[in-house]
Amino acid sequence: MTDTKKNTLIRFATLPGDGIGPEVMEVALGLLRKAGDLHGFRIETSHHDVGGIAIDRHGEALPPATLDACRQQDAILFGSVGGPKWESLPPKEQPERAALLPLRKAFRLYANLRPGNLYPELSDLSPLRPETVARGIDVLCVRELTGGVYFGQPKSTKKLDDGQEEAIDTMVYLTSEIERVTEVAITAAKLRSGRLCSVDKANVLETSVLWRRVVSEKVAAEAPDLELSHMYVDNAAMQLVRDPNQFDVLLTENMFGDILSDELAVICGSLGMLASASLGADKNSHGLPYGLYEPAGGTAPDIAGKNLANPCAQILSAALMLRYSFGLEEAASSLENAVKAAIRTGHRTGDVSQGEPSVGTTEMGEAIASCLE
Ligand code: NAD
Repeated sequence: MTDTKKNTLIRFATLPGDGIGPEVMEVALGLLRKAGDLHGFRIETSHHDVGGIAIDRHGEALPPATLDACRQQDAILFGSVGGPKWESLPPKEQPERAALLPLRKAFRLYANLRPGNLYPELSDLSPLRPETVARGIDVLCVRELTGGVYFGQPKSTKKLDDGQEEAIDTMVYLTSEIERVTEVAITAAKLRSGRLCSVDKANVLETSVLWRRVVSEKVAAEAPDLELSHMYVDNAAMQLVRDPNQFDVLLTENMFGDILSDELAVICGSLGMLASASLGADKNSHGLPYGLYEPAGGTAPDIAGKNLANPCAQILSAALMLRYSFGLEEAASSLENAVKAAIRTGHRTGDVSQGEPSVGTTEMGEAIASCLE
């Protein structure tokens, strides 16, 4: 994927959400426009309510007008949703659940990509030993998002004759579900160093035996040059804290990915730096996956509205959107490099400062913009 098409128009829906969402979104959009000027693409976007603000204004977390607007576009750039004001609502109406789950369903978002990035300059933020993270961390976790035990049927709890209760979850995977997420991991690995580790529990689970076989066959058929390995999930959890950089791209099923991607986030030190992408089954008008791009963290109510939030996760999410939904690899890398350069030259928001004076959200954006030049 390279930026071959100059003056490409990129169209996406902007859903800033609640808390720090609108603040960091504004900075990210400014940088996207600047990247467009430098790399020859134009941006067309429209803003729509989602989450708590949508509950207040329209009575629901994902109003039909927001969903319709997303359907008209090629991708969604999402902020984050929720906050204390809406915490007393019934679980089903909570902003996160009532907005993100229907969006995942509507756009059949089956592959979740969570880059685990820790720059060497920020290595003190990691809970891992300094010698383990002296070079930083750079791992990408690709998680299957719509299958496995979270969605498999039957799923039930019933009373037994002897008075106990019995709960059942079912873990199901289809060949096609494994193949399509493997394809995403192959694309990602080709853009990186070409090493792919598939994580499963093939010594115990039938679904994992199928997973391992399908991943192996798919890679052998479509990307024989990749260096493919397999690892049991319990070992992968240990290896991630022992030596994270032994991995380049990790590919795994839904529940294992839920746990491993959070482990990866913790060892990378700050939520304010971590982006994520969820890619859908449908192709957009560029023939690339429709995707939802969002920071890994939440709405950070403790610092919202104070110009204290770290905009990097939102900017890095925008970079993932350029890469995966618009094929603008060069522009994506230049945004990522600008964030790295701003950190390298000592610019830090409070969450990643280690004693040095910190800058605000807008100042961090300006520092990144000047590195983009
Ligand atoms: P959180 O991620 O919002 O905050 C946890 C800590 O990390 C806080 O100290 C916060 O200040 C800090 N933090 C997070 N992002 C930051 C950033 N960009 N810059 C600087 N510091 C940052 O998690 P929480 O406190 O558990 O949740 C707050 C609200 O966010 C809740 O309502 C929760 O439901 C919601 N939430 C939404 C999403 C989402 O929209 N995808 C994800 C997680 C949490």
